[in-house]
Amino acid sequence: MLLDSPPAVQATPLLDAHAQLRGAVDALGYGEDVFQMLATPRRELSVAVPLRTDAGGIMTLRGYRVQHNFSRGPAKGGLRFSPGVDLDEVRALAMWMTWKCALVDLPYGGAKGGLAIDPSEHSTAELERATRRYTSEILPIIGPERDVPAPDIGTDEQTMAWIMDTYSANHGYTVPGVVTGKPLSLGGSLGRATATSRGVALVALAALEHIGIGAGGATASVQGYGKVGRAAARFLAEAGVRVVAVSDRFGGIHRTAGLDVQALERHVDLHGTVRGFDGGDSIDGADVLTLEVDLLVPAAVEGVINETNARNVLARVVVEGANGPTTTAADAILAERGTLVVPDILANSGGVIVSYFEWAQANQTYRWALETVEDRLRTRILAAWTEVLDASQRRGTSLRRAAMTIAVERVYDAHRSRGLYP
Ligand code: NAD
Repeated sequence: MLLDSPPAVQATPLLDAHAQLRGAVDALGYGEDVFQMLATPRRELSVAVPLRTDAGGIMTLRGYRVQHNFSRGPAKGGLRFSPGVDLDEVRALAMWMTWKCALVDLPYGGAKGGLAIDPSEHSTAELERATRRYTSEILPIIGPERDVPAPDIGTDEQTMAWIMDTYSANHGYTVPGVVTGKPLSLGGSLGRATATSRGVALVALAALEHIGIGAGGATASVQGYGKVGRAAARFLAEAGVRVVAVSDRFGGIHRTAGLDVQALERHVDLHGTVRGFDGGDSIDGADVLTLEVDLLVPAAVEGVINETNARNVLARVVVEGANGPTTTAADAILAERGTLVVPDILANSGGVIVSYFEWAQANQTYRWALETVEDRLRTRILAAWTEVLDASQRRGTSLRRAAMTIAVERVYDAHRSRGLYP
């Protein structure tokens, strides 16, 4: 694989991840050998997942698990069900997990999984069979001390329950620590389901305050109305922010006076999409990115803010709920325009922080109160925000470069202390 590719004609998450790593490695004065080592995943597994359909046929799906780094502890990262997912996308997402865990100082490396399936086109029974077969294929490399999956796009607590059950059945005893984001009844943590969104809102409010905008006077738009975007919109609205637009993959909805987020949630529970909500005007989904708002939260997929639309992004603050929503070219354009971009590895780290709390609770077989979980989440993510902001001011760099530099230095320090075997 060519690790240091020439400038991309077409941006991809992996090229963006490599460019971000390159920037941090250069800022730290590390050499090419360090870049190559940190850019190369430690372990990659590509599997075929044969699925018996309800109609009695067999579909062969492609699945992946990439463990990018273990220097600081077991690998940790989500599992994505999405029709277009491929090995390079999973590599990028796994690498971002390594930096995210290091940035918020969790004793984890980074990993990610993917299964090329569109969950909306399969019955629950088919999804269960696909999940269990995928789990059995990656079984040798996961486990509480090896690699701990969690929900991501297209997966949820039910998916995690099936993984935990399949893993446990194969070991002959119950292993709650093999996944996080489980249902509460199986040892899931209070506060995990909304942790990513809670963190996004906390960091967004801190970033707005940093540029002198109070929550009360602020406006926001949110792209993506899934596990992350939906609760982020709710928490922002609860803090007094006027959420004027949201979108999902079916379209967008806009109301200048602010959307009634509770009514919107009821609409989405009934119809499965924000489209058709009568408390606002329909807009093109892509338009939520370019509205005149104070805060933009992309919380859907990678690469949505890119060379073609970055100049039209009018928000003063972009808080990356999604992983990799801003391409390298767009990052440069936003920096030139003075837009404050709070990078994914900081902004959406609330999910993995509370996943760590869930794993710690599973290992202790002791449940923490919701206030304990939320207090510790707040303390940890705001400490990371302050640390990244200080570093960016000290170094005169973007928040992304500052965050990446802190994270990469921590991972490389751990690697150096351990030494190279043999
Ligand atoms: P999800 O599957 O629950 O929701 C995804 C949402 O994005 C859906 O509303 C979908 O309709 C929408 N969407 C997809 N493509 C879109 C497009 N082109 N335009 C507008 N909307 C689109 O997934 P999620 O768990 O909310 O994850 C969203 C993002 O957040 C991903 O980048 C994921 O990696 C990241 N993330 C998730 C977590 C977590 O705890 N779930 C943690 C950290 C980061």
